[in-house]
Amino acid sequence: MSRVVRKIALEEHFLDPAFEEYWLKTVEDVDPKLYGQVLARLKDFGEQRLAAMDKAGIARSVLSLAGPGVQAEHDAKKAVRKAIEANDFLAREIQKRPDRYSGFAHIALQDPAAAANELERCVKQLGFAGCMINGHTHGQYLDDPALYPFWERAEALGTIVYLHPADPVSPFAVLEGYKGLKRATWEWTLETGSHALRMVFGGLFDRFPKATLALGHLGETLPYLLWRFDSRAKLYGVKLNRQPSDYIKSNMVVTLSGMFSAEPLNCAIAALGHEHVMFSADYPFESTEEAGHFMDSVPLDERVRDDISYNNAKKLLRLPD
Ligand code: ZN
Repeated sequence: MSRVVRKIALEEHFLDPAFEEYWLKTVEDVDPKLYGQVLARLKDFGEQRLAAMDKAGIARSVLSLAGPGVQAEHDAKKAVRKAIEANDFLAREIQKRPDRYSGFAHIALQDPAAAANELERCVKQLGFAGCMINGHTHGQYLDDPALYPFWERAEALGTIVYLHPADPVSPFAVLEGYKGLKRATWEWTLETGSHALRMVFGGLFDRFPKATLALGHLGETLPYLLWRFDSRAKLYGVKLNRQPSDYIKSNMVVTLSGMFSAEPLNCAIAALGHEHVMFSADYPFESTEEAGHFMDSVPLDERVRDDISYNNAKKLLRLPD
């Protein structure tokens, strides 16, 4: 029997009932009975969620709105207003259990200046630990120069920006006819890994060298491919201050979310350094119990296990005990 290690979990979702409409589009192809259960778990901040955390040794969950949220909103003013409402809603829930919950801000990137201000309000006034961005915003990716005011503020605040998967702008032709390869199987990895690489190859981290991007799924395959990025960037004459792998190693951190397997964990640790790897479960879309058990039992140096489970997140996100 392995010991139950104390954990902080970083990709744990909730739903403000006012955001159900945006979220329901992501489960159109799922059995209503199944998503009904998920929906109930998303809306619960009490017994059910805390029991799942207790069982897995999760001392603190950093909560984020289940995507895509306001990033799917076409009315920019409404998106800005609703993001503020979502953050106030989350702040009220955290207030009830500040010993167990922290939050990531929900941000409307449709208005970059307002996004920067809302991020600052959430970090400084509501005590949030950063923000979560749910993929592209109507086809605009995070490397877009229009979003530099947002990055400038995130960098100045020293706060992490967590990039969560979302559906691509248009379906990938190569996946057509294979429903089983869509979304969480492979489509989101391709979309989200590519999104993160746009930031590297677009020089975003040359412009904002202290910015930190967090990726779920142990880095969306990027840790596995570092050598190839460097080798091909040289071949294609990519103009950056450093090698692509340097930015992935120094400007990115990764979490476990939905990758409870030793091989990719060991790859992420070897490629990025264990201090850049953190625990998360992806509640309620993955089994928190399975995530916790994996973290407790995967062969690791015990000091590394404690850092990945708890210490790295506490330090990086400046979380209370
Ligand atoms: Zn998630």
